[in-house]
Amino acid sequence: MIEIKNITKSFGSLQVLKGIDLHIGKGEVVSIVGPSGAGKTTLLQIMGTLDIADTGSVVIDGVDVTKLKDKDLARFRNQHLGFVFQFHQLLPEFTALENVLIPAMIGGKANKQTKEKAKELLSFLGLAERANHKPSELSGGEKQRVAVARALINDPAIIFADEPSGSLDSKNKAELHQLFFDLRDKYGQTFIIVTHDEGLSQITDRTIHLKDGMILAENEEESEKESNADNSNNGEYICNETNKIENNEQAEIGQEELA
Ligand code: ADP
Ligand code: MG
Repeated sequence: MIEIKNITKSFGSLQVLKGIDLHIGKGEVVSIVGPSGAGKTTLLQIMGTLDIADTGSVVIDGVDVTKLKDKDLARFRNQHLGFVFQFHQLLPEFTALENVLIPAMIGGKANKQTKEKAKELLSFLGLAERANHKPSELSGGEKQRVAVARALINDPAIIFADEPSGSLDSKNKAELHQLFFDLRDKYGQTFIIVTHDEGLSQITDRTIHLKDGMILAENEEESEKESNADNSNNGEYICNETNKIENNEQAEIGQEELA
């Protein structure tokens, strides 16, 4: 699903990432933890193609994204990757539904089917009644769930989240965390989540500990879970589930993912 090798990154004389290797399988929910300044955001942005490493490769679904040029990279990002940030970054003048549709518009897919899918996502996230409200009329937890729906609209293979519950109270936090697992089960997405929240890192399939620009060693039990998340039966289940809710074109992408 995503394989990164020998990622290094410096800002001036400060080396933030010192050679990161990481493999994350399809359908895994992985947390990245570590002290402030450890390089978590930098690593997430590089994996998500929002920043460029000094050395190394990032391969997503068999595509070496470090080799893609601007336009192809932007298209790849729009079609395959979703993002959730600490602050929702919804556009204030648009309704929840319109905000969810923005990545689809950018990808040229804002048709009737996509609008139905946006409504379905909002329903799944408990926001059916809030679809026509603007961000200022929504609570913090609701806004963050709209941001999650927006991240999901183009059916990305991977969702990157940077401190997604950092601005939420404990109840909304717990609900958002549960949502990541519900979404993984329903749509089969991979979640890579930078978090300070121990409650979340404890329940993810795997926790990556980043310190001083390096990944600390994981234990064997965790790598066992990783191979389970990657096995083909799991993939098949995910694809069947995915097909039910999507049009043929998107189902084809699901098939490619399995290949
Ligand atoms: P974390 O998310 O783990 O708190 P970051 O990846 O945001 O850490 O930052 C790691 C280090 O790199 C910090 O010391 C930060 O100040 C520095 N840094 C991050 N982005 C930039 C940038 N664009 N320019 C200069 N320094 C940066
Ligand atoms: Mg950060």
